[in-house]
Amino acid sequence: CGIVGYIGNKKATEVLINGLEKLEYRGYDSAGIAIYNQGKVEIKKFKGRLAVLEEHVQENPVEGTLGIGHTRWATHGAPSDINSHPHSNTSGDIVVVHNGIIENYMELKEELEEKGYQFRSETDTEVIAHLLDHLYTGDIVETVREVLTRLNGSYALGVISTKEPHKLIGVRKDSPLIVGLGEGENFIASDVPAILKHTRKVYFLEDNELAILERDKVTILDKKGNSVKKESFTVNWDV
Ligand code: GLU
Repeated sequence: CGIVGYIGNKKATEVLINGLEKLEYRGYDSAGIAIYNQGKVEIKKFKGRLAVLEEHVQENPVEGTLGIGHTRWATHGAPSDINSHPHSNTSGDIVVVHNGIIENYMELKEELEEKGYQFRSETDTEVIAHLLDHLYTGDIVETVREVLTRLNGSYALGVISTKEPHKLIGVRKDSPLIVGLGEGENFIASDVPAILKHTRKVYFLEDNELAILERDKVTILDKKGNSVKKESFTVNWDV
């Protein structure tokens, strides 16, 4: 339902939770974050209000300056801690948040289970994490692009990996996603209010555009993988 992603020098936990608060108006049943720190991604996710997540990370702080966050509005699988996003592959080194519905998740799940993948949740989203693992080529951008060719349905995705911790990937099809452009930091979000505290300069992604965020750089690729020269937009309204 709500997505926020951050790469920069600030504490990602704070940026993400603050951003998710700004998306609360959309409604949600659970919330979670994944933060990269020293070779690992830590995932904290809970059914219920954002305050549950917030209290937990206040008592158990997660350091790190790269991360993705999500507020979920369940479509596949009841609201629960396990079904909350982010979702990861089994080894926990590729992590994804997802808005939307993967319509062919059942057949993908069966295919992956035959290959030995074990699912933890009842969500459609978890197939994306295992598919990323299964198809991983050594290049996370290339792998995301390959996975997208296998997905039917609607999605806005945020992806991070411990294998390439200087990158945050965002991509959308039939579900909104924007990129926020900062100084030495960049953002993804499912809606503008999530990032207005930090920047007013944004890219509105089109369907099938993929954004590769680094601290000092944002690259946009079209469906064919060609880089797109995007016009930034300056948001001049307040929330
Ligand atoms: N279909 C996904 C789920 O049920 C994502 C729902 C959403 O957009 O929040 O977990």
